[in-house]
Formats: sequence, C-alpha cells, structure tokens
Amino acid sequence: MPLPFRIGFGWDLHRFEAGRPLRLGGIEVPHPRGLSGHSDADVACHALGNALLGAAGQGDLGAHFPDSDPKWKGVTGAGILSEVRAIVARAGWIPSQFSVFLIAQAPRLAPHREAMRRAMAEALGMDPSCANVAFATPEGVGALGRQEAIAAHAVAVLEPSAQWPASREAGSVEPGGSGGRSHGGREPPRSI
Ligand SMILES: [Zn+2]
Repeated sequence: MPLPFRIGFGWDLHRFEAGRPLRLGGIEVPHPRGLSGHSDADVACHALGNALLGAAGQGDLGAHFPDSDPKWKGVTGAGILSEVRAIVARAGWIPSQFSVFLIAQAPRLAPHREAMRRAMAEALGMDPSCANVAFATPEGVGALGRQEAIAAHAVAVLEPSAQWPASREAGSVEPGGSGGRSHGGREPPRSI
C-alpha cells in the first residue's frame, strides 16, 4: 500500500555575479551583488523546486527547465515554483509542507525570513504556517565562506490531490530529458 504522502530533498548553488539583483526566496534582497544564472538564480526557490519534483518522482529542475531553453531566461523563483506546482499536480500531488535552509556568509538574511516564507508559500498555494525558512553562515569556510556563492537545501512534503490516484496514474509522464542536462564542458556552467 503506498504511503499517503511523499517527501523530497533538494539542493542548489549559484555563484555570485556583479551587476545583478540578489533574488532569494521569491523576493529581492538588498546586496551589492546578485547570483549568476540563466534564470533570476533564486537558489532558495530552486532547491525547493528540486525537493518538490523529487517528492513527486519527477526528476529535477535541470530536466524540466533546461538552461538552453530561452523560455526560461530570466524566469523568477516564484515562476519556477508555480510551474513545479503544476507538474506535481499533474502527477496527483499538492504541496503540504516545506523547509528551506539557506547557507550564506552575506548578506544577513534573518530580517527577510517572513517575506521569503510568504512569497514561496504563496507561489505554491500554501498557508505560510506550513512553510519554514532557515539560515546558517558557513563560518568563513570554503567557497561559501569566501562569498563566492550561496547554497540552499530544502525538504518538501506532498499530499495526494483530491483526484488521486486517478490523476496520478494519468500523469505518470516521465520528465523531459530525465538524464538531466549536461554542462557540455562549458565553464562555468550556467545554472537555472
Ligand atoms: Zn538554480
């Protein structure tokens, strides 16, 4: 008998890049530098998207939103989450709960916790009380500590939608390019 819920884990990392706004958790955070990416490089939303796709057995963001597709150029983190919400819905699931953990040396993110929580929950059609956003600094260690990048981890729980299991069976479509995208030797890779 299948479990009445699904759990997924997600991760993402984006390098800093001058001249771009810093977008995290569906909002803009004031900072001299943003993150590099084909999209708006919202590493928090991307980690969460990976967790949601994983919970639904639908692969990862790279498979659904290839950085080679102009359609996704500049797409916002909230936009990605809305698309992911539709993908997991077609598979018969709805987001029930999530926790996102950002690891950044700078800027200080705690003042933006509630705004991020609300923005990501809203993009997924969830009550913010079912969402959590947490932060840690890497204590100056490694690439994250040198402020070369920001990383995010996420866990998401899905519950069956009202149509389950009929829609889940109807929606058992393999994610496009299930092997994930190849960086093809490009340096540095452009993350979605
Ligand atoms: Zn990303």
